[in-house]
Amino acid sequence: MNGDNNGTQSGDGSVNIGIGDFRGATLNLGNGGKPAFTPEQMAIKRSSVLGGASIKAGTLSVFGIVTGIASIVGLYFTLFQPFSQPRHSSWYALFMFLFMLGTFSFVVAAVLRRKRFEPFLLRKYYLEAGTRDGIYLSSFTATCPWCRSKMRLRNIGPKNGPRDDRFICERNPRQHTIDLDPTLLPEIEE
Ligand SMILES: [Zn+2]
Repeated sequence: MNGDNNGTQSGDGSVNIGIGDFRGATLNLGNGGKPAFTPEQMAIKRSSVLGGASIKAGTLSVFGIVTGIASIVGLYFTLFQPFSQPRHSSWYALFMFLFMLGTFSFVVAAVLRRKRFEPFLLRKYYLEAGTRDGIYLSSFTATCPWCRSKMRLRNIGPKNGPRDDRFICERNPRQHTIDLDPTLLPEIEE
């Protein structure tokens, strides 16, 4: 009896694998029920902020580590030296600021090496990694495929929740929106 059951189940298994493959293909094409557009069809335009200035991820990483360690040493002497000023002096604030700056720099360098694209400022400026370890600040516009108006890329969503990078049409901002897949953007050649 057991042998018969096993035979039937293996047959079902092969059908299930087929359905799984089909669903995967649909997800790739569907884009959440909306038509998918290529960057060329949308005429996506990257604008370099700061005149295209860049910093190497390696430099940023080292800066983060050095600043972090220096600020910890500074904090130690600020907090524990017996003949120093009151604990919460402006030195304390300065070293705390440097510590956060160092940590932030280190994390940004690590994240960009992995993701190559990360929202950075005011929900409209993005940090991007170039082909040779450079980090750039960019903003993006596109042409709306439905009405040919200008679109701007915005980082949309709740403050602490999941956020999307979405092109939003200036003429019909509610209906003409396209989620960006940043892996489709052209590389920044260095
Ligand atoms: Zn539009």
